[in-house]
Amino acid sequence: MTPGVKPLIAGNWKMNGTRASLRELVAMAEAYDGAMRKRLDMLVCVPATLLHAAASAALGSRLMIGAQDCHVAASGAHTGDIAAEMIADAGAVAVIVGHSERRTDHRETDGLVRAKAEAALRADLLPVICIGETGAERQAGQTLDVLGAQLDGSLPSAPAVVVAYEPVWAIGTGLTPTMADIAEAHHFVRERLVARHGPAGRAMRILYGGSVKPANAAEILAIDHVDGALVGGASLKSADLLAICACCPG
Ligand code: PEP
Repeated sequence: MTPGVKPLIAGNWKMNGTRASLRELVAMAEAYDGAMRKRLDMLVCVPATLLHAAASAALGSRLMIGAQDCHVAASGAHTGDIAAEMIADAGAVAVIVGHSERRTDHRETDGLVRAKAEAALRADLLPVICIGETGAERQAGQTLDVLGAQLDGSLPSAPAVVVAYEPVWAIGTGLTPTMADIAEAHHFVRERLVARHGPAGRAMRILYGGSVKPANAAEILAIDHVDGALVGGASLKSADLLAICACCPG
C-alpha cells in the first residue's frame, strides 16, 4: 500500500455474465457497507450488455460499475464499438483500457490505449490502464523496459488515471510473480509516475492484477505501492471478491 492512498479493488468480469449474474453484484453492493467504504473503493467492470442493469442494481450503494473497453470517438460510424460517453450514459464511472487480452486479440497499441484513456477522461470516466510484460519478456530480463515503454506510450498527460500492473503470463493462469518481483515492478512504476507527474504521481493508484484470489490477496496487498487489485476470475463470485476486499490493510 501507499500511505494516504485509498485502495481500489476492481473486478473484471471479462466476457462472462448474464442478467442472472447480477445476483452476485447485488450481494457485493449490499456487503459494501459504511466501514468498508471508508477503507477501500470497489469497482466491478462488467460486459457492455450488463452496464445499465449493473449500474441500476448498484444504485444507492457506492459500488462503482465500469466497462472493459471504449472507442476513441464520441460517436460515429464504428459498428459494434461503444463510446466512452455511452458508457457514462449507461451509469458507469470507469473503464479498463489496454487490457492484455485486448492488446493481443485486437492488436491494440500503446498509442491507441492512450487515445482510449483520453476518451474516457473526456467522458468523465476513470480509466484503468493496464500494462504488463509477457512471459518471454520476463525471461529475457526486459520487464522494466517493457513497463517503461508502455507507461510512456499508454498514459495520457493527466494524472487522473489508475495504472494496473498485470504480468500477461499471470492472468488467468494461477501463476503469480514472487512478492519481490511485484514490489520491484510497482516501485518502478511509482518512480516513473512521480517523474512524470510530480507530487500527483505519489497519489496515483497502482493496482496489481494476475491470479489474485482470497488465498494470496493479503500478501500481495501488503506490498509497498500495491494500492489495490484488478481481479478477473475471482471477481465473478461475490464471496471471493469480498474476501479479497477483506484482505485490504487499513
Ligand atoms: C484480469 O482479467 O485482469 C485478471 C487479472 O484475471 P485473473 O485474475 O483471472 O488472472
